[in-house]
Amino acid sequence: MTSILNADLHCHSVVSDGTLTPEALAARAKANGVELWALTDHDEIGGQQRAAAAAKTVGLQYLTGVEISVTFIGQTVHIVGLGFDPENAALQLGLRQTRGGRAQRAREMSDGLAKAGIQGAFEGAWKFAGNHDLISRTHFARFLVESGVCRDTNEVFRKYLTEGKPGYVEHRWASLKDAVTWIRDAGGMAVIAHPARYKFTANQEFALFTEFKGHGGQGVEVVTGSHTPAEYLTYADTAREFGLAASRGSDFHSPAESHTELGTLPYLPGRLTPVWELLADRIQRTFDTSPEVAASMGR
Ligand code: AMP
Ligand code: MN
Ligand code: MN
Ligand code: MN
Repeated sequence: MTSILNADLHCHSVVSDGTLTPEALAARAKANGVELWALTDHDEIGGQQRAAAAAKTVGLQYLTGVEISVTFIGQTVHIVGLGFDPENAALQLGLRQTRGGRAQRAREMSDGLAKAGIQGAFEGAWKFAGNHDLISRTHFARFLVESGVCRDTNEVFRKYLTEGKPGYVEHRWASLKDAVTWIRDAGGMAVIAHPARYKFTANQEFALFTEFKGHGGQGVEVVTGSHTPAEYLTYADTAREFGLAASRGSDFHSPAESHTELGTLPYLPGRLTPVWELLADRIQRTFDTSPEVAASMGR
């Protein structure tokens, strides 16, 4: 398969911290010309069946997806998994453990915000969470925007939810080794998400890529909504240097908040192996061909 493919292999639904349902995302991806799609909710694969079914209905090729939160030398790193078996018991258990501490963390975040004069943040964020197991900083950000404390979610993160700010709470996520192993053992491919977002030194980043490969990781996001065009080229080089396949995904969360729309990023640069080439046998390609459905979808 060619690198000239409108693949969007990173986005979020109400099952984690997105605002659209898996069905609405499938329809939106199709309308935007996406050809291959994956829903990658944080630490949760409860939306996979719905996403795959919706992809079938609208006529989109589909790969299973997840974005796992990992702690690596004191920082949070995200590892995307693609093309795994969602029925795999060890993956399901590992994800359940990774989700485990979120409610307690949210209570502590709320306590921190209360000390800064913002009351009721836990209850406020809770209302925004479509899946309470996955209560996240994003839901706190939406509450702080709704209550007029900040103008947009970016401002909330900057002033309240990042390291050193009143609503920030240290958290220990999965280990890099565990996350990569869960994905691999479930038959999938592990991919380093948005590498330019991390605040690593060059040596630390080298360690991340080296250890990731050592554990069996195979891909890196090159073209993502979190990278600048210059960073596409930087991480295309990194992919070649480490012999990793390249991925592409918007990281779309919400029509109101996301600056990158589903399926609108540039294609992957040349001389790279697209992740979908290595995952060809795991792509769902069967579509719902009932004439009524096809007609309603404009096919
Ligand atoms: P959590 O997993 O609870 O730590 O929340 C992380 C999520 O917060 C990410 O997946 C993003 O959706 C969102 N996020 C992180 N940093 C920012 C930021 N600076 N602006 C907006 N959203 C952010
Ligand atoms: Mn998110
Ligand atoms: Mn991420
Ligand atoms: Mn994401």
